[in-house]
Amino acid sequence: MVFGPVPSRRLGSSLGISNIPPNVCSYSCVYCQAGRTCQIQTKRRAFYDPADIRDAVSEKLTKADALA
Ligand code: SF4
Repeated sequence: MVFGPVPSRRLGSSLGISNIPPNVCSYSCVYCQAGRTCQIQTKRRAFYDPADIRDAVSEKLTKADALA
């Protein structure tokens, strides 16, 4: 759900936030870097509770601060 920090040319480092589980997509591109789509889905819906995403970002930021 939250990954990084990863190097960023503009910001130095940044966090990535994916609010969609892996291999869930409305397409199934053969070149997809995430691999084969397991769940083709076009209907809008929430996958994660926003509070869980916020908490995961907060935890990552705390860990990144500790390393700085
Ligand atoms: S490349 Fe992958 S994530 Fe992007 S649209 Fe295609 S299947 Fe979906």
